[in-house]
Amino acid sequence: MLRDYGSQCWWCQCALPAKKLTLDHLIPQSKNGSHSLENLRLACIPCNSDRGNSLNPPKRLFSLNPKSTRGVRKHA
Ligand SMILES: [Zn+2]
Repeated sequence: MLRDYGSQCWWCQCALPAKKLTLDHLIPQSKNGSHSLENLRLACIPCNSDRGNSLNPPKRLFSLNPKSTRGVRKHA
């Protein structure tokens, strides 16, 4: 995971030490999201907890970077 995505948050792209990274489910487990790597992204704790079980990007992302167009997409 760290080698694929680097030690930064998928959402806000902040650089994070490995200890502060969490695994975020793009599609929440409660919505039948899988445990496969393609459904997992590294996220910082604020982003992950902001999303909760939502399918949407963390709300904090828009306040951090209103121009961001990054959404929840399947990894091609
Ligand atoms: Zn983040």
